[in-house]
Formats: sequence, C-alpha cells, structure tokens
Amino acid sequence: MIDFSKLPQMGEIKKPPMLSAQMRLYVGEPCYYCKRPMRGDMQRLRPTRDHYNRFKNDRKFVVICCFECNQLKGPMLGRDFEAKLASGELGVSYD
Ligand SMILES: [Zn+2]
Repeated sequence: MIDFSKLPQMGEIKKPPMLSAQMRLYVGEPCYYCKRPMRGDMQRLRPTRDHYNRFKNDRKFVVICCFECNQLKGPMLGRDFEAKLASGELGVSYD
C-alpha cells in the first residue's frame, strides 16, 4: 500500500528558479556566451543579465547569458571571458 503522505507534494517535485517576467522571455534563447539554450527549469541555465563590460561609456551594454556563464565571468570584461571560454582555459565542458 502506498503511503501518500510520504510522496512529494505538488510543487516540491520540481523547483524551478525564480524568473522575472522579463527574464522569462529569454527562455529558449541562446546564451550570449556559450550559445546553449537558456532554460526556465534549471538554475545553472537560467537567463541572467550581464554587463558585458563596465566601462562608463558602455554602461548600457547589457547581454543576456546563462547563470553559469555569469558566475564564471564574474567581474571579467566580456571580451576577456569570451577569449577564455574559446581557449578552454576555464576547464568547463558545456554539454
Ligand atoms: Zn552560457
């Protein structure tokens, strides 16, 4: 006999990341850096806003990339991160 009280309750089975309505628009779009399709049901692939660079005159240059790229990039400049990503230096295998 199944003990239903031990089964996951509705809503506990899958806990999707919290996405703003604006970020939700980017689900399915490719990440700016790694080109993987961004997802609404996986934390590491959820769409995030990233400042490609932080120079004053380019303040408004914001790209949408996956959470994982955003974390790896940190305060790096966008072009530096792209170079590292292309070189494989980050040791990340994007599957
Ligand atoms: Zn990415």
